[in-house]
Amino acid sequence: MPVEGGEIAGDVCVYVVVLILIIIVLYVALYLILVRRKEVRMFCDYCGETRIAISDCCNAPIKVKGIRYICRACGKDAEPICAVCRHRMGVKEYGRIGHGK
Ligand SMILES: [Zn+2]
Ligand SMILES: [Zn+2]
Repeated sequence: MPVEGGEIAGDVCVYVVVLILIIIVLYVALYLILVRRKEVRMFCDYCGETRIAISDCCNAPIKVKGIRYICRACGKDAEPICAVCRHRMGVKEYGRIGHGK
């Protein structure tokens, strides 16, 4: 029957569109998670901009674990440095406490 066939085709179409939308949403979510995990961004005093932070030991991406920074290459505690100018990052926060500003 042509009418029944049309209805089934319509259902399949909706199903495929929903499936594609779900895949796109999952892909975007996964992409955002990966990007966020990959890059730790901090404000660099020397550049005056927010830059990607890397570890001082291996110059590898770092991950934040509580108040510590872990090097992704060797898994040890690392100091975050600016990926552009290689100066230490996160100094400003500590400096503010000392200066009392
Ligand atoms: Zn910098
Ligand atoms: Zn390292």
